[in-house]
This record gives sequence, C-alpha cells and structure tokens, in this order.
Amino acid sequence: MLSINGATVRYGDETAVRGVSLDVGAADAPVTALLGPSGCGKSTLLRAVAGLEPLAGGAVLFDGADLARVPPHRRGFGMVFQDGQLFGHRDVAGNVRYGLERQGWARAEARDRVEELLDLVGLPGAGGRPVGELSGGQQQRVALARALAPRPRLLLLDEPLSALDRQLRDRLAGDLRRILREAGTPALIVTHDHGEAVELADTVAVMTDGEIAQVDRPARLWRRPRTPEIARFLGYTALVDAAVEARQADSALGRVLVDCPDGRFQLGLRPGSVVIQARGVPARVVRSVPTVDGVRITVAVAAGHHELEAEAFADTPPRDGDTVHVALNPRRVAVIG
Ligand code: ADP
Ligand code: MG
Repeated sequence: MLSINGATVRYGDETAVRGVSLDVGAADAPVTALLGPSGCGKSTLLRAVAGLEPLAGGAVLFDGADLARVPPHRRGFGMVFQDGQLFGHRDVAGNVRYGLERQGWARAEARDRVEELLDLVGLPGAGGRPVGELSGGQQQRVALARALAPRPRLLLLDEPLSALDRQLRDRLAGDLRRILREAGTPALIVTHDHGEAVELADTVAVMTDGEIAQVDRPARLWRRPRTPEIARFLGYTALVDAAVEARQADSALGRVLVDCPDGRFQLGLRPGSVVIQARGVPARVVRSVPTVDGVRITVAVAAGHHELEAEAFADTPPRDGDTVHVALNPRRVAVIG
C-alpha cells in the first residue's frame, strides 16, 4: 500500500503541495482518484510519488518502506500521462514490451505478456502497427498496456482521458474501469472531471490549493461534503439552512429526508435537487434556459431575510415571474458538515 505522509513540494518560493497525507491501495478500495481544480497541485503530488519531484518535507512509503532513496525506475510504479508519450520509433508491441526489456524478461514470455495486455486493453493483434497510425484513444490504450505490462505494484495516471473528445472519453472511461479491476493493480488517478472520478475510483480525495480537503467513497462525498467550499467544488451551487430532527430536514424549500444526526446544517443543492411538485413550496420563476432535456429554470424562494435561488428542470418553460411549486429531491441533496 502507498502511504503519503505529510508530503510537501515547493517550486522556489511557491508551495505546490502542502503536508499531504493519503493512503492508496487498500484491499477493499484499490483505486483512488485525486480530484481538484486545475493548478491545485495534483500532478505535482503524483510526480512526487513517482520520484520525479523532490520532497521538501514528509515522506512517501510503499508497504512501510520509505522511498526517499529509491529512484523512479526502481519504485515499481507504472505511469500514464495525458498524452500517452509513446515511443514513436517503436511499433505497438515494442512500446508495450519496453518495461519487460528493462526487467530482462525472456523473449517468449515477453511476447505472451504483450499479447495478453493488448487483449486486455482491447487491441488484440495490433502489435505490429506503427504508433503514429493510431487514434488518440488507441494511443492511450497502448500507454496503459505499456504501464501495466511489467506488473507494477501501483499505477499512477495523470488525466489519462482528458486529451480525448467527450464521446471517446466516456467509452474509454468504462473500459479503463474494467481494465483497472481486471489487472487488480492499485491506482492513483488524477482528474479534474467529477464524473470520471466517480466512475473510476473506489475512493475520491478532493484536493484544493495544495492540500487534501476530504477523502471519502464517492457516494458519501457527494452526500456529506465536509465544508461549503468542498460542496461548491462538487457542484452544489446553492446552500440552504436547515434544522434536522429525526432525519427530517426542514428548510425554506420544504422537508426532506436526510441521513445525519439532529442539529442545524446547511443543505447543498445542485441542478435537479429541486423538483417541480404540485404540493410543494411556492417559488417564483426567475429565468429559464433551454437544455437538451427540456428547460432548466431558476426559482427563488424567501429564506429568512433573503431570497434563495435554486435550479430545477421542467418540461415546458414557465414565464418569468410565474409561481411554481417546488420540493427537494432527497437523492440529490447534500448535508454539509
Ligand atoms: P494540477 O495538476 O492540479 O493542475 P500542478 O501540480 O501542475 O497542478 O501545479 C500546481 C502549482 O505548481 C501551480 O501553481 C503550478 O503553476 C505550479 N507548478 C507546477 N509545475 C511547476 C514547475 N515545474 N515549476 C514551477 N511551478 C510549477
Ligand atoms: Mg495536472
């Protein structure tokens, strides 16, 4: 198991990673996503784990052994970057074989292993193709096969899908999920895409401004973000005060079933958290915007001394200023704290 203990990385005067502690590769949660906005230090942390960036403080350990003096190529980690970084002068098999050659695998065994990996990533029989002929998605599959071939004890992936177009990315994300699980290799995968983090990872670590803000299973993270800042980053665009008693949260948008102890909490709302419902709370339509599924409307309700705006979906566009009735959707409400 990988243990990052209080890792700090500096570039000159700037601290890019600040005292980060994170464990990756628990038996029941082998894949961790490092999720955070651009520039928050994700790649820097990944590079420090790989040994490509020196630590200014803290330690990186694997199975309890400090890696401070272990150079990158001796850490037993596989890496996949955003843009594959394949060797252009080698064919597909030559790329996948690279790590096996460095480890001195016998020729026949290496050939079998290359075949096995090309099957795993969905490119059977592609060994002889020049990498320059491959599409972006195929190149990422080869990069993944190359990283997995020498049986790394940990896979490090830095935004492996973000250079691909949306449709291909969705398809490859599904494949990547299967491949990671079939390979059985623990992985730390950097992404700024929420959907990708949830789809790929057992555990999501939210990183903001060089620090880990929260580590949780995806469902739990979206249900119970620790702070309003984390909630906003996860897509909860509106926050509403609520009093919780016996699992009922009472708010300006009505009552909703929640899973938290009694007390005062803020609820996090995102598009779809509020639904139009005949027996709901009256709300004024502020604006409506067409979407592929209908219209997204913004409604305002009186919440104490101010107005609260929230988004809901409707089939037909109401007029601005109309009154609609709204309620909270318990599956889409977060309890913050
Ligand atoms: P992320 O991967 O989350 O987008 P990075 O780890 O690439 O973020 O960057 C974190 C911070 O460190 C940013 O402010 C970035 O400008 C800075 N940074 C990254 N790499 C270098 C570098 N080689 N030299 C100086 N500053 C860097
Ligand atoms: Mg990055």
